[in-house]
Amino acid sequence: MKIGVPIEIKNNENRVGMTPSGVFELTKRNHTVYVQKNAGFNSGFLDEDYVEAGAVILNTIEDVYATAEMIVKVKEPIEQEYTLIKPHHTVFTYFHFASSEPLTKAMIDSKAVCIAYETVEDKDGTLPLLIPMSEVAGRMSIQQGAKYLEKPIMGRGILLGGIPGVPPAKVLILGAGVVGVQAARMASGLGANVFILDINMKALRHVSETMPNNVISEFSSEYNIRKHIKDADLIIGGVLIKGAKAPKLITRDMLKDMQPGTVMVDVAVDQGGCFETTKPTTHQDPTYIIDEVVHYSVANMPGAVPYTSTVGLTNVTLPYVIKLADMGWKKATKKNKSLAKGLNIVNGKIVYKEIAEAFDLA
Ligand code: NAD
Repeated sequence: MKIGVPIEIKNNENRVGMTPSGVFELTKRNHTVYVQKNAGFNSGFLDEDYVEAGAVILNTIEDVYATAEMIVKVKEPIEQEYTLIKPHHTVFTYFHFASSEPLTKAMIDSKAVCIAYETVEDKDGTLPLLIPMSEVAGRMSIQQGAKYLEKPIMGRGILLGGIPGVPPAKVLILGAGVVGVQAARMASGLGANVFILDINMKALRHVSETMPNNVISEFSSEYNIRKHIKDADLIIGGVLIKGAKAPKLITRDMLKDMQPGTVMVDVAVDQGGCFETTKPTTHQDPTYIIDEVVHYSVANMPGAVPYTSTVGLTNVTLPYVIKLADMGWKKATKKNKSLAKGLNIVNGKIVYKEIAEAFDLA
């Protein structure tokens, strides 16, 4: 199959849909991979690396779409890309159709086959192509939190791990899912005192069995949250209720009970945030202060670490890309139920119930 990897043209997107290692796996199976010039540059991959792995470099995005049968990318197509997508294309990327009617309509009109990373689903209900991005955001939340705890950026001026003779900081993590567990791992590694709260006992048991002694698991209740925020230095929001807005676990009135300079990182900002005072921010201007509490709520945290994010994403997408390339979308989705869940729009028809319902396009 002819596979195309275009450059990502959405604002501030530095990831790329395939690494040279992915190209190598495909070319060794006799597929041809066309990579747009400089597509991997911002993720740390040079055109020479792709050529060495067997790719053909094409100069423009138009060349890539005109040559390839399957397009593998990262973000949903933006308006400039709509007309490049034709009926013979299979497009494998994040789409998030439910949040954009114009995109949904454009992809219906294109008559292409659209397979969305975010709806590929395993038997146990997990979303394997979303997990690495939560892992990145979870780990990064502690890195960012540690930075904003520094005094010049209005933080409490406390080092997460303390030093000999000075106690470490206290980190409160709400949610013991992918984000929460990765955050706990980073914070505990730095020597902080970590408290992680969840309403799911299975998740708390897992934390209790696998984490070091400086991570304490506790049931998530308003009472316990109110108790912990009083002396927490860094608070991480990583809760998720599937398909729903995040619950507001820390309300505006609770900020007055916190120490001045406490940092709150709301990773759940993309689901509305789990702090009442959360509003989405960007990497250019990531924080704001309310009642002397520093808020960090960047909606696309993985965008700041494109090397890690690209490799993490392509590690999990590649097995599906190989199936699609080897068998074509029809046979591949028939044989693989997880991949079949990724089918969103096929030849002009929405085939994913929730998307059809979102726009009354059933
Ligand atoms: P997950 O499903 O693995 O974990 C969520 C956890 O929250 C679950 O264990 C659940 O039981 C728990 N929870 C639900 N209600 C709770 C409550 N009242 N108190 C405490 N815990 C509660 O989800 P995840 O992959 O860890 O993702 C968490 C959030 O981070 C999602 O909204 C996701 O979209 C977001 N995210 C954001 C970024 C970003 O760049 N900002 C990147 C990746 C993921």
